[in-house]
Amino acid sequence: MSKVGETTLVLDLSALEHNYNYLRSKTKPKTKFLGVVKAFAYGSDMIAIAQKLEQMGVDYLAVAYVSEGVLLRKAGIKTPILVLHPLASNFEDLIVHHLEPSIYSKNILNQFLEAAKEKQQNDYPIHIKFNTGLNRLGFSEDDVDFIAKETKRNGCIKIVSAFSHLAASEDTNERDFSLKQINSFKIVSDTLSSILGYAPMRHMLNTSGIINYPEAQFEMVRSGIGLYGYGNQAKVDAQLKPVATLKTTISQIHQIDAHESVGYNRAYKSKRPIKSATLPIGHADGIGRQYGKGKGFVVINGEKATIIGNVCMDMIMVDVTKIDCQEGDEVIVFGPNNSAESFASSANTISYEILTAISQRVKRVLIGA
Ligand SMILES: *Cc1c(COP(=O)(O)O)cnc(C)c1O
Repeated sequence: MSKVGETTLVLDLSALEHNYNYLRSKTKPKTKFLGVVKAFAYGSDMIAIAQKLEQMGVDYLAVAYVSEGVLLRKAGIKTPILVLHPLASNFEDLIVHHLEPSIYSKNILNQFLEAAKEKQQNDYPIHIKFNTGLNRLGFSEDDVDFIAKETKRNGCIKIVSAFSHLAASEDTNERDFSLKQINSFKIVSDTLSSILGYAPMRHMLNTSGIINYPEAQFEMVRSGIGLYGYGNQAKVDAQLKPVATLKTTISQIHQIDAHESVGYNRAYKSKRPIKSATLPIGHADGIGRQYGKGKGFVVINGEKATIIGNVCMDMIMVDVTKIDCQEGDEVIVFGPNNSAESFASSANTISYEILTAISQRVKRVLIGA
């Protein structure tokens, strides 16, 4: 019998390379490529992924917050890093670590100007975010005059790019809306360039945008989920390779008689005798309670085993009545053959959420380097 091994997230860097090459094949040779590594590189291993992307020649990296960028710099990453959602309280750290802020409002522009002056910067690279319909972060198109004039008046900053974000790039029913966003972005970025007297790079597409709106690549594209092997569409998924495989093992097998219960709150009650397996993974590892009570499933020896009862903090129980298995056997929660997308959809959510939920307690192992 094999020894029970701890829950592990196996990260295949050769799959990352495959996905990067696939996405690059969808862009024009001159288009720059930004790899999004926010949220621990979508729950994987931010440093290892960033190092691999840097080695493959990615032009830019992006994180959500300054603290994430600081970790990359401390690990020796030299590639330019765009911080998508910097907060004014972190501007000093941002400048010290040569991170490039997304500037998305008048308020944040004024606060950044103050910080850049205080640190005696010249031409500090910034990126202007326009809101073209997502209504999350971004300047209004009406602010373009203000942005250009403030930038010209203050030599401490330089706009290196203008960007925006599609609200529904994966949803072909919203094609008209996306095209409207692309058109608004074109107009506002042209206006910005003409007032500035130079043309910053422009970028708008995320992974699904790269697939669905190739005409809107501008000078750069930004991909996250695609690099990790998911494309929000079956035909794209078929071309990509999941980087992450979440594995665990069977700790114990129980024979459960009819009319017994399994787990907390007796949430599962057996109608007939069953065999259950207890696995060392729970909501503290990222498997939320919504996967319990018959929703989520794992794969053991090639067969589906449904999660029964409530998800506990450190464990789940699965139904293995019809599966030939033993304590110590390997369990796949998600991976190339049962994708994170289908695992996520069992609980009505998306690959992005389950991938980024895998907690830091789960050991990361790199392969395919
Ligand atoms: C997260 C993010 C991306 C990456 O999107 P994917 O769908 O994962 O490719 C791109 N742009 C912005 C602004 C983001 O916040």
